[in-house]
Amino acid sequence: MKNTEIRVRFAPSPTGFMHIGNARTALYNYLFARNVGGRFILRVEDTDFERSTQQAKEVIFSSLKFLGIEWDEGPYYQSERIHLYQEFAKELLKRGIAYKCYCEPQELEQRRLMMQAAGKPYKYERTCYHLTPEEKQPKENLPFAIRFLVPPGEVTFPDLIRGNITIKGEELEDFVLLRSDGTPTYNFACVIDDYSMKITQVIRGEDHIPNTPKQILIYKAYQWEHPIYAHLPMIMGPDHTKLSKRHGATSVEAYREMGYLPEALVNALAMLGASFEPDREVYRLDELIKLFPLNNVSKKAAVFNAEKLKWFNREHIKLMTTEGLLLRLLELGLVSGDINYLRRVLTLVRDRITVLNDVYNEFNYFFEEPKTYDDTGLVNWSGKEVLENLRLLKDKLSELTDFLASLIEKAVRTLAEEKNLKAKNLIHPLRLALSGKTVSPGLFEMMELLGKTRVVTRIGAFIEKIKQINDR
Ligand code: GLU
Repeated sequence: MKNTEIRVRFAPSPTGFMHIGNARTALYNYLFARNVGGRFILRVEDTDFERSTQQAKEVIFSSLKFLGIEWDEGPYYQSERIHLYQEFAKELLKRGIAYKCYCEPQELEQRRLMMQAAGKPYKYERTCYHLTPEEKQPKENLPFAIRFLVPPGEVTFPDLIRGNITIKGEELEDFVLLRSDGTPTYNFACVIDDYSMKITQVIRGEDHIPNTPKQILIYKAYQWEHPIYAHLPMIMGPDHTKLSKRHGATSVEAYREMGYLPEALVNALAMLGASFEPDREVYRLDELIKLFPLNNVSKKAAVFNAEKLKWFNREHIKLMTTEGLLLRLLELGLVSGDINYLRRVLTLVRDRITVLNDVYNEFNYFFEEPKTYDDTGLVNWSGKEVLENLRLLKDKLSELTDFLASLIEKAVRTLAEEKNLKAKNLIHPLRLALSGKTVSPGLFEMMELLGKTRVVTRIGAFIEKIKQINDR
């Protein structure tokens, strides 16, 4: 097969958010396609009209774009291809490989429940397959579903990740291809589309393994060659249970909103199953594409760890230039104002942020007065002597003409010596006054950046605050 003939697809159902597991599936398809020079197709499986929403479709597109996963074809919508599935189903009906089923869904559900109560698996009894012409005749005008007549024998297929998978024919019931309202089931529409879109590799989550034998039987019925399958390992939380809300955010959008970089998310997702180079974890998208090993994906469940994602994010922040980082923050509207000032703030704080939103959430004192002060800070630094020291500091700093870090530091240390104090007894309350916090980047650099006016004003405001506390 020429590589240009390799075609893969991502086929999400637009019924909710873009789950981490779906994003990993999309990414693996994309990495594989780009690695081999094939094509990546986007197909929206929206035949469940009740559960599919326009909003979910948009979330899929925007999440893919955010991650940098570009599709070469599509989006194709199954809802626009209903007639196609109907035509194909009729063909199987004509050939006797499928049959009309008049059973009511409620009736079937009841039978299923009864069997379940008896502890037995339910399998459709082929009631309608066995109808005699006389029994069939009065039903002729009733709505019907089309069921596939499952042939006897086993179904075996090679899976790129898990080796040969075999399912006994007896385990499969005559599954529905087309519902009585004319809409296709997932398995049927999937085969018709994978075939007509010339998909060569189907890369999807292992939760679809039970569907694959059914799909293969449909291919066989049409005498079509089926694609190569690769079922990706399940994704677990750190406690080795299925990844769910209990483990924290599970959607791409949620991480995007928290200020994660797409680079970090892509990197973390790529590591969920595939192993790239030994002793290396940080990769950019172009490197992931170059190294992607579809035939070296583990079948062992992969663990998604939100803490580890934080680490990936910090690593990818390190890889960015300050200018690049600034541009990203501006685009996201997370900062605004004087570019020179922003650049200097970022230089000072970039090693201390985990997610982009931290620039605003953790370091907003670079942009506005602190509204509150850290409680423990206040307990430690609100005594009368602090008040006195801050007054002296305020005067001393007001006198400085060049408000430079080195000169500020000198002024603070000189005052400490004069007053026979440890410098930290000035530095800590000063930090609290200026930032509202007990930790910050280098205090003197921070003061230079804030500038004399803001520094003096904030010390003044803090003095008032301490006075209030002492007057109580
Ligand atoms: N719509 C299915 C899903 O989202 C697609 C499965 C497949 O890739 O065949 O799970």
